[in-house]
Amino acid sequence: MESVEKKAVAIFTAVPKQHNCAQAIAAAAGREDLVAELASAGGGRAEAGLCGALYAAMAVVSECDRQALKRDFEQLAGAVGCRDIKSQVKLPCVEAVRIAGSLVDKYRTRDMSKDLRKVTIERNFTKYAAGSVVIRQGDTWVLCTASVEEKVPPFLRDSGQGWVTAEYSMLPSSTLQRKDREIKKGKPDARSSEIGRLIGRALRAAVDMKKLGERTITIDCDVLQADGGTRCASITGGMVALADAIDKLIADGKLTENPICNFVSAISVGICNGIPALDLDYIHDSTADVDLNVVMTADGRFVELQGTAEHEPFTDEQLNALKALAVKGNAELARLQQECRKN
Ligand code: UDP
Repeated sequence: MESVEKKAVAIFTAVPKQHNCAQAIAAAAGREDLVAELASAGGGRAEAGLCGALYAAMAVVSECDRQALKRDFEQLAGAVGCRDIKSQVKLPCVEAVRIAGSLVDKYRTRDMSKDLRKVTIERNFTKYAAGSVVIRQGDTWVLCTASVEEKVPPFLRDSGQGWVTAEYSMLPSSTLQRKDREIKKGKPDARSSEIGRLIGRALRAAVDMKKLGERTITIDCDVLQADGGTRCASITGGMVALADAIDKLIADGKLTENPICNFVSAISVGICNGIPALDLDYIHDSTADVDLNVVMTADGRFVELQGTAEHEPFTDEQLNALKALAVKGNAELARLQQECRKN
């Protein structure tokens, strides 16, 4: 599909000229319904003297993304006002159209007020683990493996019960700036330990430990690439790896009854620019007013909620809106978990 950036530049520079900068962006984004109305938004006549291309770009992306898009535009174009762009920065209008178009491409991939990022769950990714899954949620990619050991921690010995635990780690090149391996620091990273414990608690809610018998399943979650929501993706992908490991125990005759009592998944939601948003990527996670990770069972019950007001404290009403969004996101993830298990 041709980018909005390319289309907008082509429309804006067409001879004879039919569209102003704002109209070029709307037409390129497929928003013909806005073209007539934007006839008066070119040449510095847009609201607050904004660059018309920027004004139109903000109109075609989701409300949650408008301020982030404006900040990006200011960084790339040097200003947001039409007059400043022309007289101070001296940026040609076609460049402003190109920048605005590229930002529409960046932000318009989904509507964060209702859509998840693109999620794929690939099973049997590596060979040795009983369950091995790569979950890709936008640009967050996590390898989740499940390994079975015929032993339990000392506190469960001779109890007849099994154990499910998890470890989490980010690969050095999973982040924009290289992250040292934890072994180099000589002690586990506090964030990784905390996330590993969250994943373990979440996945223990999925399993009847008596039915599992005296064995331990360890879910290792290694972040290959991080773009926000790695702990939630680890839970959703880890659940599929866990289910595959249990299927193998049943196929090998080591279990007669399936110990899985619930499938679980997790999603992050937050308030971005005052609007409840689903499945935060890094740029939204790092600027969100509220960040809430919600672990749920496939039948719609809550396992754990981890929420913080990073900037502004949130109201009961906002919490309810976020919970409703998380219910929707987790229902979609539960459907994807079942769908990938059919292959
Ligand atoms: N992040 C990073 N380096 C770190 C920790 C986090 O680049 O050492 C980024 C990464 O994109 C991660 C995001 O910040 O996904 C959010 O981190 P957070 O601790 O909120 O956990 P997550 O949202 O991944 O569960």
